Amino acid sequence: MTLTDFRVEHRYLNLPDAFYSRVYPTPLHQPRMVCFNSALAEEMGVAVDEPEQWAAIGAGQELLEGMDPVAMKYTGHQFGMYNPDLGDGRGLLLWETVGPDGRRWDWHLLGAGQTPFSRFGDGRAVLRSSIREYLCSEAMHFLGIPTTRALFLVSCKDPVRRESIETAATLMRVAQSHIRFGHFEFAAHHQGKDALQALTDHTIGLYFSDLEALPERQRYHRWLAEVVKRTARLIADWQAVGFCHGVMNSDNMSIIGDTFDYGPYAFLDDFDAGYICNHTDQGGRYAYNRQPQIGFTNCQFLARAMAPLMEEDDILDALRHYEQAYNDHFLDTLRRKLGLAETREKDIDLIMETFSMLHEHHVDYTLFFRGLSNLASKGPAPIRDLFVDRQVADNWLERYQERLKEESRSDAERETAMRAINPKYILRNYLAQQVIQDAQGGNYEPMHKLLEVLKLPFDEQPENEAYAAMPPDWGRHLNISCSS
Ligand code: AMP
Ligand code: MG
Repeated sequence: MTLTDFRVEHRYLNLPDAFYSRVYPTPLHQPRMVCFNSALAEEMGVAVDEPEQWAAIGAGQELLEGMDPVAMKYTGHQFGMYNPDLGDGRGLLLWETVGPDGRRWDWHLLGAGQTPFSRFGDGRAVLRSSIREYLCSEAMHFLGIPTTRALFLVSCKDPVRRESIETAATLMRVAQSHIRFGHFEFAAHHQGKDALQALTDHTIGLYFSDLEALPERQRYHRWLAEVVKRTARLIADWQAVGFCHGVMNSDNMSIIGDTFDYGPYAFLDDFDAGYICNHTDQGGRYAYNRQPQIGFTNCQFLARAMAPLMEEDDILDALRHYEQAYNDHFLDTLRRKLGLAETREKDIDLIMETFSMLHEHHVDYTLFFRGLSNLASKGPAPIRDLFVDRQVADNWLERYQERLKEESRSDAERETAMRAINPKYILRNYLAQQVIQDAQGGNYEPMHKLLEVLKLPFDEQPENEAYAAMPPDWGRHLNISCSS
């Protein structure tokens, strides 16, 4: 194996000891490389002759020279309740690398075995959930939404008990940062001001370095405002693409604004504003239409943790950016999805009414916007066909086309722009479910094929039409288990 073009660092280990615990992976057996992300490896400066050589590292049987694995300590609010006992319970930060383009990468081996933060868990991840994270983090990336990435996935023979007996797998999750809102809650509520300051300075130094030179008060103020804005924009991206995260606990919120920790997530098929993708979330705390509010609540948890370091006024001011950032980004994205380059006051009403209509008539969210992107060239049939009551579609289309008359772009220009923001291919739950079943039977080809399709979500890919289809009856409202 040649490891060429990256530098190894362990900057996280410069933090006070309380932030981590050194733990070695507990080896798994008979590993097999399921999926290796060669393109990403190349970006990271990792030269790979033979992906299979990474299987032993994935299985926790070997470490590369220089790896110094730790479980990170953090706390957080889970379903609104503060939990002081969190931390990496089944994942280890192996090292940090800096690639040829200067980008930093945390290497986090998910499913590596028990740690001091495992509580009652076995420290493992199953093949099913590892595939779900691999697929979705890559799908998100190619949709242009900030996210952690997947470098490789290894499947092992070891049995793991969930609702039934499954098999173990590990995922090498990579990201610019694995620091969560919950790290700050841990520092503030259990370690005191010095630790909080060390964590904040570390975070700003590595990921917000353009703020580093500012005087302290301004630095923290601007930083918190930036985190709040990134969070707001991320959630606006989710809403616009019809993504439901499912477990928006503050320990699952990335400090750099990545989509983080893929559990029982879902992309909406037919639009349902109150959709709950996590079947253990009985109250619907993390329902699709609650995500913007919950994002703000999580920012409040983070802001509260910053109280020892910041003036009250600065904290409140930073939080005030949330609503504006969310609204601006959401409206801007929806305008683009609708192909509206001119700005009109009344567009907000059109957008809101569109959502109400999609909800009321259970219209497939992705196919609706994709159909609109081809309205002039392919006609209204693909859109009308999504409605049981065609009259509803016709009324809406009439109004929409009236509005398009105020646009100055040509139809062709508008369609090209719309096709670049309205994906044809998303990771529908049933597609994930199918490839998981094949993988559990030892056939990984369908997963590879699906990944290829998801890499070009905005392309027509006529040969892959089947992947754009609405779910079959069995694939609607699948009960995705939270257990992973
Ligand atoms: P999650 O719901 O995946 O965000 O996990 C919440 C917390 O539970 C984190 O501290 C995880 O590390 C921990 N955890 C989840 N699954 C396991 C497991 N199988 N073994 C040990 N810890 C786990
Ligand atoms: Mg988590």
